[in-house]
Order: sequence, then C-alpha cells, then structure tokens
Amino acid sequence: MNTPCYKINELFETIQGEGAFTGQPSIFIRLQGCPVGCSWCDTKHTWEIEMTDQVPVAQMLGKAEESDHWSDLSIEQILAVINDNNYQAKHIVITGGEPCMVDLTPLCTALENQGLSCQIETSGTFEIKTTQDCWVTVSPKVNMRGGYKILNSAMKRANEIKHPVATEQHVDDLKQLLTEHQITKTQVYLQPISQKQRATDLAIKTCIENNWRLSVQVHKYLGIE
Ligand code: SF4
Repeated sequence: MNTPCYKINELFETIQGEGAFTGQPSIFIRLQGCPVGCSWCDTKHTWEIEMTDQVPVAQMLGKAEESDHWSDLSIEQILAVINDNNYQAKHIVITGGEPCMVDLTPLCTALENQGLSCQIETSGTFEIKTTQDCWVTVSPKVNMRGGYKILNSAMKRANEIKHPVATEQHVDDLKQLLTEHQITKTQVYLQPISQKQRATDLAIKTCIENNWRLSVQVHKYLGIE
C-alpha cells in the first residue's frame, strides 16, 4: 500500500518556544501551504504551493534561509531524515503553513510507533485529522483575509488554545470565540504578536485578569529558529 507524501518546507531540530511545550527539544516539520491569510504571518513563504518551487530533499534540508522551496517526502523519507541526522528530540511539532489541510493520521501514527510524541499547530480552520494521542494546539485566526471560519470540532479537539494578541479587539475576539464554542476548561495562552511591547503589556494584563498563560515565543528572544 502506498503511504502518503507530505509537502515539507523545513525539517529541523530546535527548542519549542511556544505554549505548553516551551523549552522542549523538538523536531519541527513545517508543511507548505496556507490559505488563511493572516496579515502579520511570520511564515508567508509557506503560503503558496507552486510546483516550480519543488526542490530535491537535500536542497530543502540544506536551506540557509527561509524560502518558498519545498520537497515531497514520504513517511519513510521523513523517518530516515530524523534517523540520519541523529536527532535526539522525542517530540515532533507539525506546523506550517496550515498542516491540517492534509490528513496527518498516517504520519503521526508512524512517528508515535517510533516512540515519538506529536504536536500539531493549527489555525482551527480545517478538520483536524490526527491520532488520539497527538497534542493539538489551536491558534485560532479570526476574520483573516482568506475568510475561513474557526471550526467547532477544532476548538473542541484543542489541548491548548494559543491566541495571538496585539489589540483589545483580539482579546474580545478570543472571548467571543470561547463563548461561542463553549470552551471553559482548555488552557488558554496569549501570545503577543511580533514581540511588540504594547502587545506584550496587553497580554500580561489580560492573562492576569483571566488566569490565562503567557506565551512569548522564547525562540525569537534567543535568536534561534
Ligand atoms: S494560519 Fe499560520 S501560516 Fe497561515 S497565514 Fe495565519 S499565521 Fe500564517
């Protein structure tokens, strides 16, 4: 039986800098493709899937800087890259782009069978197809240019909700979303957009008021990927 391939923009080992797994050594798999259209997106190079940007695996892995180049990898190739690079992290973060545009169940099943834990970071605008044990981080993107709605199934599946914030409107949007989807128990993280001081101050104040947690994108302060 053929296993699916995944369009991968980057595959590398680092420290998770966001949310509940902050500080955890992790292998990041960044998938190509996202139609959500957030104006402040810091991975705009992952948005389009142009066949002319497909490159050999070695070229994708050897990138010296961000680019829209991607490679099509089978699950076996992904496992081989992890093995060949002697990565030590036991936690996989599948991000994007919007990783839930594709079925992640076969990939997460294979990774979990190797003794690795999986985490998905998604905007909550596509059905989440993954394993039961996979940790799902929903970072809901409300009223973005692409016009996608946040799905109730995604909000309900979330193990954590990580919301980008820069203005009071973002806080109001999140509160409305939590009410609309009847989310009361899931841990909420507020993440200041682009490390702006005003956004950080607002996030700190709002976290204290609501007993939410702060996520500050530690990797950006450390200057690592
Ligand atoms: S959902 Fe994520 S990858 Fe897509 S545009 Fe928004 S921030 Fe960027």
